[in-house]
Amino acid sequence: MSNEKKGSLLLQAASFIYPRKCVSCGNYISNEKEDFCPECKADVFRTKAPFCPYCGVGKEYCSCRKNLHAYEMVIAPFYYEGSIKKAIGRMKFGKKEGVSRFLGEELSKDIEMKYFGIAFDIVTCVPSTNKSIRERGFNQSASILESISIDEDKKDYDLLTKKPQKDIQHMLGAEKRRENVLNTYFVGQGKDVRGKTILLVDDILTTGATADACASVLRLGGASSVFVAVVALDKMHND
Ligand SMILES: [Zn+2]
Ligand SMILES: [Zn+2]
Repeated sequence: MSNEKKGSLLLQAASFIYPRKCVSCGNYISNEKEDFCPECKADVFRTKAPFCPYCGVGKEYCSCRKNLHAYEMVIAPFYYEGSIKKAIGRMKFGKKEGVSRFLGEELSKDIEMKYFGIAFDIVTCVPSTNKSIRERGFNQSASILESISIDEDKKDYDLLTKKPQKDIQHMLGAEKRRENVLNTYFVGQGKDVRGKTILLVDDILTTGATADACASVLRLGGASSVFVAVVALDKMHND
Protein backbone atom coordinates (compact mmCIF):
# COMPACT_ATOMS: atom_id res chain seq x y z
CA MET A 1 0.00 0.00 0.00
CA SER A 2 1.33 3.46 -0.87
CA ASN A 3 2.16 5.85 1.90
CA GLU A 4 -0.41 8.24 0.57
CA LYS A 5 -3.12 5.61 0.76
CA LYS A 6 -2.01 4.57 4.22
CA GLY A 7 -2.15 8.20 5.30
CA SER A 8 -5.63 8.70 3.99
CA LEU A 9 -6.82 5.49 5.65
CA LEU A 10 -5.34 6.65 8.94
CA LEU A 11 -7.09 9.95 8.53
CA GLN A 12 -10.37 8.19 7.87
CA ALA A 13 -9.89 6.07 10.96
CA ALA A 14 -9.07 9.15 12.98
CA SER A 15 -12.18 10.93 11.77
CA PHE A 16 -14.20 7.92 12.83
CA ILE A 17 -12.75 7.77 16.33
CA TYR A 18 -12.20 11.50 16.72
CA PRO A 19 -14.80 13.14 14.57
CA ARG A 20 -14.16 16.59 15.97
CA LYS A 21 -11.73 18.99 14.39
CA CYS A 22 -10.24 22.06 15.99
CA VAL A 23 -12.17 24.99 14.47
CA SER A 24 -8.96 26.99 14.25
CA CYS A 25 -6.20 24.69 12.93
CA GLY A 26 -8.36 21.85 11.61
CA ASN A 27 -6.48 19.10 13.49
CA TYR A 28 -8.50 16.30 15.01
CA ILE A 29 -9.18 16.65 18.71
CA SER A 30 -9.87 13.86 21.13
CA ASN A 31 -12.13 15.69 23.56
CA GLU A 32 -15.72 15.57 22.34
CA LYS A 33 -16.63 18.62 24.34
CA GLU A 34 -13.94 20.91 22.97
CA ASP A 35 -14.01 23.14 19.91
CA PHE A 36 -10.27 23.88 19.93
CA CYS A 37 -7.13 21.82 20.35
CA PRO A 38 -5.24 22.78 23.54
CA GLU A 39 -2.74 25.04 21.71
CA CYS A 40 -5.45 26.97 19.86
CA LYS A 41 -7.63 27.19 22.95
CA ALA A 42 -4.88 29.10 24.73
CA ASP A 43 -4.98 31.67 21.93
CA VAL A 44 -8.67 32.63 22.05
CA PHE A 45 -9.42 36.17 23.18
CA ARG A 46 -12.93 36.83 24.44
CA THR A 47 -14.28 40.32 24.96
CA LYS A 48 -14.83 41.16 28.61
CA ALA A 49 -17.27 43.52 30.32
CA PRO A 50 -17.56 46.44 30.86
CA PHE A 51 -18.00 47.19 27.15
CA CYS A 52 -17.82 50.48 25.32
CA PRO A 53 -21.29 51.07 23.84
CA TYR A 54 -19.80 52.89 20.84
CA CYS A 55 -17.20 50.47 19.57
CA GLY A 56 -18.09 47.26 21.42
CA VAL A 57 -14.65 46.45 22.84
CA GLY A 58 -13.92 46.01 26.53
CA LYS A 59 -13.32 49.39 28.16
CA GLU A 60 -9.70 48.41 28.84
CA TYR A 61 -8.99 48.46 25.09
CA CYS A 62 -11.31 51.24 23.95
CA SER A 63 -9.58 54.04 22.12
CA CYS A 64 -12.56 55.13 20.05
CA ARG A 65 -13.58 58.75 19.72
CA LYS A 66 -17.14 57.91 20.79
CA ASN A 67 -18.27 58.50 17.22
CA LEU A 68 -21.93 58.12 16.58
CA HIS A 69 -22.77 55.48 14.02
CA ALA A 70 -25.82 54.74 11.93
CA TYR A 71 -26.21 51.64 14.12
CA GLU A 72 -27.15 51.78 17.78
CA MET A 73 -24.55 49.41 19.16
CA VAL A 74 -22.13 46.69 18.22
CA ILE A 75 -21.38 43.54 20.18
CA ALA A 76 -18.93 40.66 19.70
CA PRO A 77 -17.93 37.59 21.71
CA PHE A 78 -14.30 37.66 20.49
CA TYR A 79 -11.42 39.83 19.40
CA TYR A 80 -10.09 39.35 15.89
CA GLU A 81 -6.82 37.74 16.94
CA GLY A 82 -5.13 34.39 17.40
CA SER A 83 -7.30 31.30 16.98
CA ILE A 84 -10.49 33.18 16.11
CA LYS A 85 -8.73 35.12 13.35
CA LYS A 86 -7.39 31.81 12.06
CA ALA A 87 -10.84 30.16 12.23
CA ILE A 88 -12.47 33.01 10.30
CA GLY A 89 -9.65 32.85 7.76
CA ARG A 90 -10.19 29.11 7.26
CA MET A 91 -13.90 29.66 6.78
CA LYS A 92 -13.29 32.26 4.08
CA PHE A 93 -11.37 29.83 1.92
CA GLY A 94 -14.20 27.37 1.78
CA LYS A 95 -17.41 26.73 3.61
CA LYS A 96 -16.53 24.80 6.73
CA GLU A 97 -19.74 23.77 8.41
CA GLY A 98 -18.13 23.06 11.76
CA VAL A 99 -16.44 26.45 11.90
CA SER A 100 -19.45 28.56 10.93
CA ARG A 101 -21.63 26.53 13.29
CA PHE A 102 -19.28 27.17 16.20
CA LEU A 103 -18.96 30.88 15.41
CA GLY A 104 -22.73 31.22 14.92
CA GLU A 105 -23.45 29.49 18.23
CA GLU A 106 -21.01 31.70 20.10
CA LEU A 107 -22.53 34.78 18.49
CA SER A 108 -26.02 33.53 19.43
CA LYS A 109 -25.05 33.34 23.09
CA ASP A 110 -23.59 36.84 22.94
CA ILE A 111 -26.75 38.22 21.30
CA GLU A 112 -28.96 36.57 23.93
CA MET A 113 -26.88 38.05 26.71
CA LYS A 114 -26.06 41.55 25.45
CA TYR A 115 -29.21 42.25 23.44
CA PHE A 116 -31.50 40.69 25.99
CA GLY A 117 -34.98 42.18 25.83
CA ILE A 118 -34.64 43.65 22.32
CA ALA A 119 -37.31 42.28 20.01
CA PHE A 120 -35.74 42.12 16.55
CA ASP A 121 -38.17 42.15 13.64
CA ILE A 122 -35.55 41.13 11.10
CA VAL A 123 -32.14 39.52 11.45
CA THR A 124 -29.95 39.88 8.39
CA CYS A 125 -26.33 39.68 7.24
CA VAL A 126 -23.84 41.84 5.38
CA PRO A 127 -24.19 40.79 1.74
CA SER A 128 -21.47 39.78 -0.72
CA THR A 129 -21.53 40.59 -4.40
CA ASN A 130 -22.78 37.88 -6.73
CA LYS A 131 -19.26 37.71 -8.13
CA SER A 132 -17.63 36.97 -4.79
CA ILE A 133 -20.32 34.41 -3.94
CA ARG A 134 -19.62 32.72 -7.27
CA GLU A 135 -15.88 32.74 -6.68
CA ARG A 136 -15.94 31.68 -3.07
CA GLY A 137 -19.05 29.56 -3.28
CA PHE A 138 -20.80 31.19 -0.33
CA ASN A 139 -21.18 34.33 1.76
CA GLN A 140 -19.48 33.85 5.12
CA SER A 141 -21.80 36.27 6.93
CA ALA A 142 -24.79 34.32 5.65
CA SER A 143 -23.26 31.05 6.81
CA ILE A 144 -22.89 32.53 10.31
CA LEU A 145 -26.47 33.80 10.21
CA GLU A 146 -27.60 30.27 9.30
CA SER A 147 -26.20 28.99 12.59
CA ILE A 148 -27.73 31.65 14.81
CA SER A 149 -30.54 30.33 16.96
CA ILE A 150 -33.16 32.94 16.17
CA ASP A 151 -36.62 32.36 14.78
CA GLU A 152 -36.07 31.28 11.14
CA ASP A 153 -39.02 33.47 10.09
CA LYS A 154 -37.09 36.51 11.23
CA LYS A 155 -33.99 35.75 9.17
CA ASP A 156 -33.71 37.49 5.83
CA TYR A 157 -30.56 36.69 3.87
CA ASP A 158 -31.38 39.07 1.01
CA LEU A 159 -32.53 42.15 2.87
CA LEU A 160 -29.45 43.99 1.60
CA THR A 161 -27.65 43.69 -1.70
CA LYS A 162 -24.12 44.67 -2.63
CA LYS A 163 -23.12 46.30 -5.85
CA PRO A 164 -19.76 45.25 -7.32
CA GLN A 165 -17.12 47.80 -6.40
CA LYS A 166 -15.40 49.67 -9.18
CA ASP A 167 -12.29 50.65 -7.27
CA ILE A 168 -10.02 48.42 -5.33
CA GLN A 169 -10.97 49.21 -1.76
CA HIS A 170 -7.51 48.90 -0.25
CA MET A 171 -6.00 51.33 -2.76
CA LEU A 172 -8.28 54.14 -1.66
CA GLY A 173 -7.69 56.74 1.03
CA ALA A 174 -9.90 56.76 4.13
CA GLU A 175 -12.32 59.41 2.81
CA LYS A 176 -12.74 57.81 -0.62
CA ARG A 177 -13.11 54.46 1.05
CA ARG A 178 -16.01 55.62 3.17
CA GLU A 179 -17.68 57.14 0.11
CA ASN A 180 -17.08 54.00 -1.91
CA VAL A 181 -18.59 51.82 0.82
CA LEU A 182 -21.62 54.10 1.11
CA ASN A 183 -22.50 53.65 -2.54
CA THR A 184 -22.17 49.90 -2.34
CA TYR A 185 -25.09 48.63 -0.27
CA PHE A 186 -28.79 48.82 -1.04
CA VAL A 187 -32.01 47.59 0.48
CA GLY A 188 -33.13 44.67 -1.68
CA GLN A 189 -35.94 45.13 -4.16
CA GLY A 190 -39.39 44.76 -2.65
CA LYS A 191 -38.08 44.73 0.94
CA ASP A 192 -39.91 46.85 3.47
CA VAL A 193 -37.86 47.90 6.47
CA ARG A 194 -40.08 50.76 7.66
CA GLY A 195 -40.44 50.87 11.42
CA LYS A 196 -38.41 47.68 11.86
CA THR A 197 -35.83 46.89 14.51
CA ILE A 198 -33.04 45.12 12.66
CA LEU A 199 -30.07 43.04 13.73
CA LEU A 200 -27.19 42.98 11.26
CA VAL A 201 -24.74 40.09 11.47
CA ASP A 202 -21.19 39.94 10.09
CA ASP A 203 -18.01 37.99 10.73
CA ILE A 204 -15.66 40.82 11.65
CA LEU A 205 -15.77 44.54 12.32
CA THR A 206 -12.70 46.69 11.89
CA THR A 207 -13.38 50.35 11.15
CA GLY A 208 -17.13 49.88 11.22
CA ALA A 209 -17.47 51.45 7.74
CA THR A 210 -19.31 48.46 6.28
CA ALA A 211 -21.71 48.14 9.22
CA ASP A 212 -22.27 51.89 9.09
CA ALA A 213 -23.04 51.83 5.37
CA CYS A 214 -25.49 48.93 5.77
CA ALA A 215 -27.15 50.58 8.77
CA SER A 216 -27.36 53.90 6.89
CA VAL A 217 -29.26 52.45 3.96
CA LEU A 218 -31.58 50.58 6.33
CA ARG A 219 -32.27 53.78 8.28
CA LEU A 220 -32.81 55.70 5.02
CA GLY A 221 -35.28 52.99 4.08
CA GLY A 222 -37.19 53.74 7.27
CA ALA A 223 -35.85 51.16 9.75
CA SER A 224 -36.34 52.43 13.28
CA SER A 225 -33.08 51.03 14.61
CA VAL A 226 -30.20 48.82 13.57
CA PHE A 227 -28.04 46.80 15.96
CA VAL A 228 -24.86 45.02 14.92
CA ALA A 229 -23.48 41.67 16.08
CA VAL A 230 -20.15 40.36 14.80
CA VAL A 231 -18.08 37.32 15.70
CA ALA A 232 -14.91 39.30 16.20
CA LEU A 233 -13.84 42.89 16.70
CA ASP A 234 -10.52 44.40 15.76
CA LYS A 235 -9.59 46.11 19.00
CA MET A 236 -6.74 48.03 17.37
CA HIS A 237 -8.90 49.82 14.83
CA ASN A 238 -12.06 50.57 16.70
CA ASP A 239 -13.75 53.84 15.90
ZN1 LIG B 1 -6.09 23.87 16.86
ZN1 LIG C 1 -15.11 52.65 22.40
